[in-house]
Amino acid sequence: MAEQLFIFTVVGVFGSLLCLFLCMYALFTFKSAPGGRYYIFATLMCAIFSFSYVLELNSTTLDAMKLWLKVEYLALPFIPVFILLMCVEYVGRKLPPILLFFLYFIPQLTIFFHFTNDLHHYYYTSVTVSTDGPFPLLVLEGGLWFYVHSIFLYVCIAASLCILLIHMKKVRFRFKMQIFLMIIGLVIPVIGSIFYLTGTSPYGIDTGPISMSVAFLFHGAAILSLQMFNVVPIARETVFENMQEGVIVINQHYRIIDYNQAMKQIIPSLGNHVLGRSIAEVLQHQLELKTIIMSDKDSDYHSVQTGTTHHYHIRFTPVYRNHKSFVGRVISFIDVTERVKLEEQLTILASMDGLTQILNRTFFMKEAEQTITTLKEQEGTVSFIMFDIDHFKMVNDTYGHEAGDKVLVEVIHAAKTCLRDTDIIGRYGGEEFIICLPNTSVLDASLIANDIRSQVYEATITINNDAIRVTSSFGITTESFSFDQPPLLLTTLIQQADKALYEAKHHGRNCIQLYSSEPVQEEFIVNER
Ligand code: GH3
Ligand code: MG
Ligand code: MG
Repeated sequence: MAEQLFIFTVVGVFGSLLCLFLCMYALFTFKSAPGGRYYIFATLMCAIFSFSYVLELNSTTLDAMKLWLKVEYLALPFIPVFILLMCVEYVGRKLPPILLFFLYFIPQLTIFFHFTNDLHHYYYTSVTVSTDGPFPLLVLEGGLWFYVHSIFLYVCIAASLCILLIHMKKVRFRFKMQIFLMIIGLVIPVIGSIFYLTGTSPYGIDTGPISMSVAFLFHGAAILSLQMFNVVPIARETVFENMQEGVIVINQHYRIIDYNQAMKQIIPSLGNHVLGRSIAEVLQHQLELKTIIMSDKDSDYHSVQTGTTHHYHIRFTPVYRNHKSFVGRVISFIDVTERVKLEEQLTILASMDGLTQILNRTFFMKEAEQTITTLKEQEGTVSFIMFDIDHFKMVNDTYGHEAGDKVLVEVIHAAKTCLRDTDIIGRYGGEEFIICLPNTSVLDASLIANDIRSQVYEATITINNDAIRVTSSFGITTESFSFDQPPLLLTTLIQQADKALYEAKHHGRNCIQLYSSEPVQEEFIVNER
């Protein structure tokens, strides 16, 4: 064997084994990576092509050479197609079905023309053997379809190159390196075939097979690293999308850059069409939220979604490029509904009297103070009723403390039936209750008090099969606020109501007494028993 033939045989076998190895490696390592499956097909075809070419080179007769050439052509026409499809899938694109059909049909025509060449000579106009070199070599003169196929091959490679270059502009630097590797992989066999076509390759040997094998090393490296890197954006995307927290990202000009699924619950108008639009514009119907977002300050916010109130704590996190220039904000909506509800329940628990389920003294004072503040601004009128169960000690002494509790509950139940939504009732002391009646004249307050007095009296409470009745006494005070006069304090008004109650007790109980600063006491409603 000529020394040159031996070298080319070794290189060719090495090339085909390399392709076979890359094919197997891809099959077990990155089969499902973008472009992975086409890489497997292309390397397999390249292994067949290279090995057949070695056998062609080592053949001594024209028939044997032609036979191996045919085997080469079972694989070769598909290689550029698989390379193109590999690049298309690598950049995450898809080709239309008609183009796919065309891409697979041309190689089949090539195989057809190649195999039937002796009948029409459309592929090769002449097939001879040259013995000018150190070893016999097939000399092929291209026919019409040979050039069609060559053009098709270069179009496939050029298209692959364009797709990669366009994609390279879009991706971040980390991914540019991978695209660059893919491009090198495309360029190497092109350079190899230029040598062959211009007749500058050593002894006219086709350098395509070996250059292709080397090229696939680069493609393989690119796909493998993409597969590794690919998990990062995918993982990030998955975490972002499935977060319970609603997250929206805006740039320094308050334009929406991104948002996750949870955010759509909070801002229903979000959709692909809002990306790049101003957040203020998108929130034109959610004015409160718009104000919060434009303020850039961590805030609390609540919204009603399908009839349920959700509470959020909104947090702003500034984003800086390279730790320097401010580029936008990540706004997170932390759902604090559970916490708020718990707090509300605790507040209710803390504000209520456990036995009668009305406000306790502290919270009554708070609510009444707020009501008075509002009424002062409106120059309104407020009345207070203080009432106390008559001879309650006797109930406790006769029937026991538990029975006394039951009486207290029933008395409050009766009193509540006489009150309006705006009235505030609280337990002031043991069996002493207070009612704040906003915008109520002394006459109306007296009527309400009398109503309660009757209801309490009417209520029959059964204890140990005994139906018992209790009566109650009432003290009333009324104040009309005016900007001209200094307003009375809440504590003063309560003292006045208490004083009137004392008077009612003094006047025989089960009656109502209006507060008067005068010593003369007027019995308003007499005991009915
Ligand atoms: P008066 O007509 O003058 O009001 O006579 P009274 O016996 O009702 O006297 P007073 O209002 O001073 O009585 C308060 C009593 O109420 C004393 C206390 O034992 C009882 N009491 C206070 N809180 C409770 C309670 O939560 N449950 C029960 N069962 N009794 C209570
Ligand atoms: Mg009492
Ligand atoms: Mg009392």
